[in-house]
Amino acid sequence: MVTKSSERILIANVLVSPAHYIGGQRVSSKKTFTVISPIDESVLGEVAAGGEKEVDEAVSAALKAYPEWAALGPKGRGVYLRRFADIVESRVEELAAVETASNGSLLESGRLRVMKRAAYNIRFFAEWAETLKGKSWESNGTQYSVLYQPSGVSALITPWNAPLMLTTWKVGPALAAGNTVVVKPPEWAPFTCSLLADCAEEAGLPAGVLNIVQGIGEEAGAALTQHSGISRISFTGSVETGRIIGKVAADRIVPASMELGGKSPLVVFADSDFEAAVKTALGQYDNAGQVCLAGTRILVEESIADKFLDAMKEGAKKIVLGDPRNIETDVGPLITREHFMRVQGFVERAKKQGATVAYGGKVSEKLGGLYFEPTLFVDIPEHAEILKEEVFGPVLTFQTFRTEEEAIEMANNTEYGLAATVFTGSAERAQRVRSAIIGGTVWINTFFARDLSAPFGGSKKSGIGREGGDFSFDFFCNIQTVAYKAGSFTS
Ligand code: NAD
Repeated sequence: MVTKSSERILIANVLVSPAHYIGGQRVSSKKTFTVISPIDESVLGEVAAGGEKEVDEAVSAALKAYPEWAALGPKGRGVYLRRFADIVESRVEELAAVETASNGSLLESGRLRVMKRAAYNIRFFAEWAETLKGKSWESNGTQYSVLYQPSGVSALITPWNAPLMLTTWKVGPALAAGNTVVVKPPEWAPFTCSLLADCAEEAGLPAGVLNIVQGIGEEAGAALTQHSGISRISFTGSVETGRIIGKVAADRIVPASMELGGKSPLVVFADSDFEAAVKTALGQYDNAGQVCLAGTRILVEESIADKFLDAMKEGAKKIVLGDPRNIETDVGPLITREHFMRVQGFVERAKKQGATVAYGGKVSEKLGGLYFEPTLFVDIPEHAEILKEEVFGPVLTFQTFRTEEEAIEMANNTEYGLAATVFTGSAERAQRVRSAIIGGTVWINTFFARDLSAPFGGSKKSGIGREGGDFSFDFFCNIQTVAYKAGSFTS
């Protein structure tokens, strides 16, 4: 099938282009891929499947737009980017509806938080860039200054679990830094990124500053990372893909940042606020567990473990699994049949390896489709895969510990290091545990708090690099040191 560049398809009452957006134009492709809604597995539409040709056109458009965009400076770019953010914000309702139809995330949370945060990502980094100051100092008669310069064309590759939020988390700083960008949205949920291009156009962003190439990862994504015109690769997704992209980046010596998967611990000590800890543990089912940061390994101090498990069982009964468009729904469907089978495979293997299902463990009998019940495993053999691999579904494991040392050892017993959450009433214990845990973010008596100026990223297999505040600019900019002999100028 061929997409028409002018074609629009109706998704959740919003007209969305299934075409690429290259050099300010909608561009079609001969090849397409089919996008299915997780809500009812109905077909949402055929989307243009880009490859080398489209990627080359997009990178060329971005290279062409780059000098003028870079020359505008942070203030000049800020005018465009603030308008861009305003337009995204004005379309929050449409964006949320399309995102829910595409990836099954809760409509209410999209409307109230996630889409607003997408707009804020753009505004925040535009403002941050204006105040970004390189250091200046004098040493041994030489004056030094550090400059944040644009670095060219950035390739931005994002996953499906929060496509618009994660894309703007990269688009915001890359554009604010003076780079132009080519975005490869996730093929399972590509539509809100297409709407982002509409917003950019409405904001009057010069043609070629933001380009979108839709397509399959191994085709469009691979072609993008391999393109010689790219100066930065910013990737969020799985460890497997990160490894492939890392090899390409290493060959070409292109800086690549990697936000990858996780298998984060949620550690609960007996002296913690019990209710808050239980609520947070049950909150790990949000977005059907399709959250990189989710604390999927629940580790509870033995003295309160029975009570905690009972509270989780009771709480889980109240979780409403259902259509993500309904306001009363807490947990929606898994993204695709393929991903559903993957999650189910993990659950079946965990059972075979001797783990016990405390609740859940199967598709909802009432709803069928891609609606997998919130699941908890207990009595899990130490070697079980379910304790080690990222499931990316509504599946948690429950283990107990006796001492602080044991808790730390269990928390760190993973190849991942994205985040950790610790519940304790003791400030001293919090300090000891957080300094011993290896993870990009450690939350104490809270979860998911994320200020955009704080560095975000993973340790160990969970990633390379940090994003947020100055850290995003450290990555997207070409950082230049200028050194000149103090007092050497005569005019
Ligand atoms: P994925 O790695 O399959 O895909 C991510 C993106 O990479 C998609 O756009 C895909 O098309 C593209 N891609 C796939 N193969 C490629 C290739 N060879 N070259 C270039 N691009 C390619 O991941 P996913 O299934 O979309 O997302 C789930 C994963 O993302 C989970 O592991 C999750 O933990 C992780 N994630 C991490 C963060 C974070 O901030 N650390 C945030 C969200 C999701």
